[in-house]
Amino acid sequence: LSKPEDAPVQTLFDLTGKVVAITGGGRGIGLAVATAYAEAGAKIALLYRTTTTAPKTAKELSSRYQTEAHAYKADVTAPEEISAAIDQIVQDFGRLDVILANAGICSEHAAEDYTPEEFQEIMNVNVNGAFYTAQAASRIFKKQGFGNVVFTASVSATLVNTPQRQVAYNASKAAVLQLAKSLAVEWVDFCRVNCVSPGYTQTQIMEYASKDMLSKWLGQIPARRFASPYELKGAYLFCASDASSYMTGSNLVIDGGFTLP
Ligand code: NDP
Repeated sequence: LSKPEDAPVQTLFDLTGKVVAITGGGRGIGLAVATAYAEAGAKIALLYRTTTTAPKTAKELSSRYQTEAHAYKADVTAPEEISAAIDQIVQDFGRLDVILANAGICSEHAAEDYTPEEFQEIMNVNVNGAFYTAQAASRIFKKQGFGNVVFTASVSATLVNTPQRQVAYNASKAAVLQLAKSLAVEWVDFCRVNCVSPGYTQTQIMEYASKDMLSKWLGQIPARRFASPYELKGAYLFCASDASSYMTGSNLVIDGGFTLP
């Protein structure tokens, strides 16, 4: 891990001149975090698949925060697509400092009802997609001699909530956590690798949940409310900045107390 000189506190979270690429950057948590990174001075690459408003959003970020921001279309399950998008980002911005592998999907079924296709789709986006994204960025990081990988895992990586009908999602997020730890060790010479694990956060991904399920989950959260995606900004900013320069292989849990024993 690089060892920066003792820096003033005000500059620890400064991302001026840094280039950050974010999968799932067009909406939800990815977009909230992109906003924080732009405000901290970073140049932004928003990666999206179906959120076609992403190019317009990038322009808005650019003018609001006086930074450079562009959008790139890539499906994280297609390694050649994500790799080509990362290469294009480096060509456009001249470097890549941080990759946030954040794209993810969820579904809800009784375990015995999962079709192989449904189970594979969750694994393909959440695990394979996260790996392909980090792997594409790592090739750049290795050449540069620096870089930073942040994964979005979940409280579901370590906790089994009730009622339980999310076996695929939980298994996929546990895999993301182990991916991060393994890569943190393997890539220690040229980048840091960490996870943020949000608890229930109000985004589109929660729309599949029934009212009954939402109220049951709410009852299990000490904070007695779901998070706004904007309440995750601090954790992601910490991971992406020099404020966390000695942190690698860690998992920051932001969950209103949900995973407390
Ligand atoms: P959203 O549904 O709003 O966002 C999901 C994002 O994933 C979208 O931007 C979508 O891009 C992207 N995505 C999905 N599939 C693909 C794909 N094949 N290729 C590229 N991008 C893809 O939900 P969130 O913002 O909440 O989710 C972001 C991450 O946070 C996910 O990994 C999720 O598991 C995780 N998380 C969410 C929690 C919550 O309660 N909200 C709790 C814990 C973790 P597009 O729209 O362009 O298709």
